[in-house]
Amino acid sequence: MTIQALQKSASSIRRAAVIGSGVMGAGIAAHLANAGMRVTLLDVVPQSLTADEERQGLTLADAKVRNRLAAAAVAKMGKSQPAQLYDSSWAARITPGNLTDHLDALGEADWIVEAVVERLDIKQQVLAVIESARSPGSIVSTNTSGLSAASMAEGRSEEFRRHFGVTHFFNPPRYMKLVEIVATADTSPEVVRLLTEVCEKRLGKGVVLAKDTPNFIANRIGTYGMLVTLADMLAFGLTVEEADALTGPTMGRPKTATLRMLDIVGLDTLLHVVDNVRERSSDSAEQAVFARPALLEQLVAAGRLGEKTGAGFYRKI
Ligand code: NAD
Repeated sequence: MTIQALQKSASSIRRAAVIGSGVMGAGIAAHLANAGMRVTLLDVVPQSLTADEERQGLTLADAKVRNRLAAAAVAKMGKSQPAQLYDSSWAARITPGNLTDHLDALGEADWIVEAVVERLDIKQQVLAVIESARSPGSIVSTNTSGLSAASMAEGRSEEFRRHFGVTHFFNPPRYMKLVEIVATADTSPEVVRLLTEVCEKRLGKGVVLAKDTPNFIANRIGTYGMLVTLADMLAFGLTVEEADALTGPTMGRPKTATLRMLDIVGLDTLLHVVDNVRERSSDSAEQAVFARPALLEQLVAAGRLGEKTGAGFYRKI
């Protein structure tokens, strides 16, 4: 079989599609656009109108409503992207939309990045949609924090699986230098080479090749360290601010070291990550470490998901 990626170099990746316009998808789209790629940023079609949309007399059929999620992400990124890091025209290279109406963008993309919610079933559904719409030879990668890439691609064609791997960006993508690249047993070495070249040469990242194990490398270490800190600190009756102060500058780490960082990550995403490791581990000690912290469950149940909902560990963000 011809692996069309063989003929590609990093500079030949001109069009990208990013699916999922949340915390990570929006940031990845901005970073790819800043590197000169034309990017389509896609999300789901909203299920209900906002009060503002109702006031304007819009309906669920209006394009403005159907594309609302991705468009809002681009607008938000436009306000928060640091001018000193990004060229002034990056936002103009991003076209926001919804996945259902914009499957043609997947057919035109050289590289498709999946960045939807951290659930295996949803990611499998999205990969099936990508398979039905992409052009043969295009690269597909997932930004999963640590789900099994091989399981995600189960049921997809051999051609798809050869062009599929993990590009795990860290949050926020504009500042975090690391990208973990993970190949499955089916991923072509040429695809790994191409993704590595794109991440290093065009996106300015440092790449670590990780195995397809639960949570790869960085999140396994990071989640463990942060959760133990979190559980220990708060169980002793410390405040959220005190916990951050103690695990931040006093230890030579940034002010946003632990709980503030988790608010940026998203507490719902963190719960998914913890669950994924626990459910995939056969080691009882590891399962105990990755038990759901009660406080985290309470905050998520109360809709305090972190920065994305305006409150998390911190009441107001
Ligand atoms: P998020 O909850 O902020 O955003 C997910 C987005 O996906 C939402 O906008 C949602 O509407 C959209 N979505 C859900 N189902 C969809 C579908 N079927 N089609 C299209 N869009 C769909 O999540 P996030 O934090 O951006 O995480 C995205 C991925 O990146 C996850 O796999 C996560 O584990 C990973 N990740 C997150 C972080 C982090 O710090 N938040 C860091 C690294 C990796």
